[in-house]
Amino acid sequence: MLAAGCAAGETQQNTSGEIPEYVLAIHGGAGTLSREHMTEHQEKEYRSKLDEALSAGEDILRNGGSSLQAVRAAIMVMEDSPLFNAGKGAVFTNQKRVELDASVMDGRTLNAGAVAGVTDIKNPVLGAIAVMENSPHVMLAGDGASAFAREQGLEIVENSYFHTQRRLDAVIRQIEQDKNGTVGAVALDMGGNLAAGTSTGGMSNKKYGRIGDSPIIGAGTYANNQTCAVSATGHGEFFIRWVVSYDISALMEYQGLTLEQASGKVIGEKLVAAGATGGVVAVDRYGNVAMPFNTTGMYRGYVKSTGEKQIAIFGD
Ligand code: ASP
Repeated sequence: MLAAGCAAGETQQNTSGEIPEYVLAIHGGAGTLSREHMTEHQEKEYRSKLDEALSAGEDILRNGGSSLQAVRAAIMVMEDSPLFNAGKGAVFTNQKRVELDASVMDGRTLNAGAVAGVTDIKNPVLGAIAVMENSPHVMLAGDGASAFAREQGLEIVENSYFHTQRRLDAVIRQIEQDKNGTVGAVALDMGGNLAAGTSTGGMSNKKYGRIGDSPIIGAGTYANNQTCAVSATGHGEFFIRWVVSYDISALMEYQGLTLEQASGKVIGEKLVAAGATGGVVAVDRYGNVAMPFNTTGMYRGYVKSTGEKQIAIFGD
């Protein structure tokens, strides 16, 4: 049985010895999350939305769908919810607008796609998938990404669709705990394929035009069937410079570390030494899950074909 809760630097390992047929792990952002700042009602809301995201992805995996489809479904649930800093409910820039970043990676082919600084694609994760599948590029930004999304028939919305009073208050009053909520998902499907995706509004009060780690392959998102799938959340400038998601994969590939060791080292040691806050959710090809973070909390959860399931927020 896996521990319920995952404190800073700790990870979780599948100890059953059997490889689960499928696994899905998700996060809804890491940061200064504490029980004192959250009502019971709010906690319930978050838990139930995380559960809904897990169920949406699990339904796909249970029916033989791909890890990428599961990642897409789980992320879309969280993008559509005003609770998270992705899609509707994303944080504001210093110009009081919303600019969104997202990426996906397919661990079987190492194909990847991303959109950055987009202001009108309702579900940025769909933009990232479209770039991966239907363009010769890996990343499209700003107006070019929007034009491409239109061509692809994706739903386009006014920037005001993403706005919520809570995030406006957070940017005006600099409310610390309302800065969080990037979303991400990683999955292993029945075909043994890994995929990862991440979607965010970035950092509250960011300079307009700023791009974080979330749409950058190797920083915020990485997947490789030989090692693992990783989705990150945290202080993006550090996650880019420390190439966090790829570093976890590389430690497994070149140093033979387990997922637990590799992700624990990067989040619990290297980033801590750098003074960077955040966490990741990760799954390896054996279906082990790791969800380390070095903040007080991270919205997170996982489900496996074996019936193991966990949803947690705080560090206990
Ligand atoms: N990593 C995101 C960024 O820097 C923010 C977050 O995960 O909270 O854009």
